[in-house]
Amino acid sequence: NNIVAIVGRPNVGKSTLFNRLIQRREAIVDSVSGVTRDRNYGKSEWNGKEFSVIDTGGYVRGSDDVFEGEIRKQVELAIDEADVIIFVVDVEEGITPMDETVAKLLRKVTKPVLLAVNKVDNAMREKDAVEFYNLGLGDYYTFASISGSGTGDLLDALIEAFPEKPEVEVKEDLPRFAVVGRPNAGKSSFINALIGKDRYIVTDIAGTTRDAIDTKFDRFGFEFNLVDTAGIRRKAKVKEDLEFYSVMRSVRAIEHADICILVIDATRGFEGQDQSIFWLAEKNRKGVVILVNKWDLVEKDTMSTRDYEEKIKKELMPFTDVPILFVSALTKQRLLKALEATVQVFENRKQRISTSKFNEYMLKVIEAYPPPATKGKYVKIKYCMQLPTPTPQFVFFANLPQYVKEPYKRYLENKIREKWDFAGVPIDIYIREK
Ligand code: GDP
Repeated sequence: NNIVAIVGRPNVGKSTLFNRLIQRREAIVDSVSGVTRDRNYGKSEWNGKEFSVIDTGGYVRGSDDVFEGEIRKQVELAIDEADVIIFVVDVEEGITPMDETVAKLLRKVTKPVLLAVNKVDNAMREKDAVEFYNLGLGDYYTFASISGSGTGDLLDALIEAFPEKPEVEVKEDLPRFAVVGRPNAGKSSFINALIGKDRYIVTDIAGTTRDAIDTKFDRFGFEFNLVDTAGIRRKAKVKEDLEFYSVMRSVRAIEHADICILVIDATRGFEGQDQSIFWLAEKNRKGVVILVNKWDLVEKDTMSTRDYEEKIKKELMPFTDVPILFVSALTKQRLLKALEATVQVFENRKQRISTSKFNEYMLKVIEAYPPPATKGKYVKIKYCMQLPTPTPQFVFFANLPQYVKEPYKRYLENKIREKWDFAGVPIDIYIREK
């Protein structure tokens, strides 16, 4: 999957373009989750090609006196993480010194850069846009992010610019468990603790994906790769002082993982950044296990695991069916339990329920509590099934699918989760016309 980063100084229309790009796909995803939550990361699709979009403007404050350092960071993030970079400028303002700074950084990059001139909505402006040749980035694309005109051509160019083979070949098709989390949560310690005592390790494979380190394990008669994302941070040139940057640095690792092992620091709790990483995993329909690390530091009489778990689950709403384990990388408490739980989530994600069993159970569930009648019309669901997709998706065929709303879908999802073990796995529910 290709990653596209949008860069540019504040107020040039990056966010509007970002929203426009992710809109079509978001409409689908959010009808499932019911919530839009990340303003800086989304998935998009054009001509059947899927890609991820990062708005690197993220947490850079939208003022004109934004530090040059912030812009540099933003561009470096894009250079490190993206396959294609869209550089947005504003025809009304013309070339500003900050545009020149960005252009200077981008001229050195070997990755494709698309120069996108915003607010071009008439012939006059089309003429004005010519000045952007002076940025030394070659041809440019004109568009108007508000109306959307020109974005089609920009997207065509974008798809064209994607590298033929975006990924370094994955050497072995083993399940991939990515260890993710905030800096200092204990990701490296967790992996080291496992490696240090684990005699089942077979080999270290470096560089199966760019920058991330894979370690192959053979456990429980089960082979998998543990992906260390801590290394990514260490290699990065910029300091991860902004929450946004370290989250965005795990995008690729998360996208290429099957399961994300989210390590949090027990002494700090479940913070905004942990939440962003969790959403990233959920949005990508990855399995998730949460490890509350450094549990050795928590006074057990002030906080029980039960209380702690309740607190975290509040933050995970509505996707709360997630295994949460209390571990210590230092004392090696419950580390193997954590791996076991991860393997279980992997199995849950692959689980296939036979159509007959699914109907047998779900039709009873629906009968017990049918969708509420709308405008005097009754919704009937007569048939349902799990789709043969890599992540669990279920379709329910109804006479009036438009009347089946989010709360009812959630009811169906909860019933599925009660009956079958989908812990740690996001589920999609679709209602279709029969
Ligand atoms: P990373 O950035 O997520 O890879 O975090 P590190 O593994 O580098 O750990 C950050 C700091 O937390 C280090 O000083 C570790 O020694 C410490 N640490 C990691 N895990 C634990 C733990 O379970 N208990 C305690 N007390 N300290 C830990």
